[in-house]
Amino acid sequence: MTALHEISIREALIRGSRLLTDSESPWLDACLLLGKELGWSREKLLASYPDVLDQKVYADYMELIEKRSQGYPVAYITGNKEFFGRDFHVREGILCPRPDTEILIEEALKHIEKRRYRRVHDLCTGSGCIGLTLALENPELSVSVSDISPVSRDVFEINRKNLGADTVPFTLTSLFEGLSGSLDLIVTNPPYLTTSETEERMDSSWKEPELALDGGNDGLDLIRTIIREAPALLTIEGMLMIEADPRQMEAMASLMEAAGFCRIERVRDLAGDERVILGSLS
Ligand code: GLN
Repeated sequence: MTALHEISIREALIRGSRLLTDSESPWLDACLLLGKELGWSREKLLASYPDVLDQKVYADYMELIEKRSQGYPVAYITGNKEFFGRDFHVREGILCPRPDTEILIEEALKHIEKRRYRRVHDLCTGSGCIGLTLALENPELSVSVSDISPVSRDVFEINRKNLGADTVPFTLTSLFEGLSGSLDLIVTNPPYLTTSETEERMDSSWKEPELALDGGNDGLDLIRTIIREAPALLTIEGMLMIEADPRQMEAMASLMEAAGFCRIERVRDLAGDERVILGSLS
């Protein structure tokens, strides 16, 4: 039996998770934060439920819980986020990779295989999660990435090294400015929230950067430019694949048709919402 002032790992998880009233996954968050503090995997943590927690570790862990309860994403506190089975470094100033975006990866890999694509560019790469994952999943690809944010450049560089994807170059630029080439596939998860949705998040002290979220009045400002300018960088059989909001799909399909894309398809995310749109030039 533990003495009164002693706290077991299980008890610490219970106390921490109870404080995370705004989180959709309080137990998981508490596990990730305590795991980070102890330097342990989740498996090891679960296997150690009855063990007594060191008081200093407990105090530090409760500080992380406090930070999380103020709205910091767990990924910013732990410094990493799992995406498509790999750990990506993240920090403030970078959009945390989302499970929804894994749909885009699966779809891209499918078309790369089917159409024997080789040259792929990830536009607005952020942490690099799309471009690096594609490069690592299919080593025959020649992948490049770009982003306007210097924070993205730094974080991408760390992920590139950590994951051993040495051949993926980064360009610091605004959308396609200064980029050239005959690409087979352009993939992108650009900012696509509307300005009012972004403002709502900022008002609720959202910790992710406005730059990665705000797509203008209807959320389509950057997407319009991307659809208009992508054909000039694609091969004759090239494809454009964009993650966006389900409510934007109709407008995007028309924009893509007008820009010369055909075989336009929409792909649903894990929640069953249309999340990715794609089209090719032939
Ligand atoms: N899917 C993200 C969100 O809703 C938005 C990401 C983006 O704008 N690219 O938080």
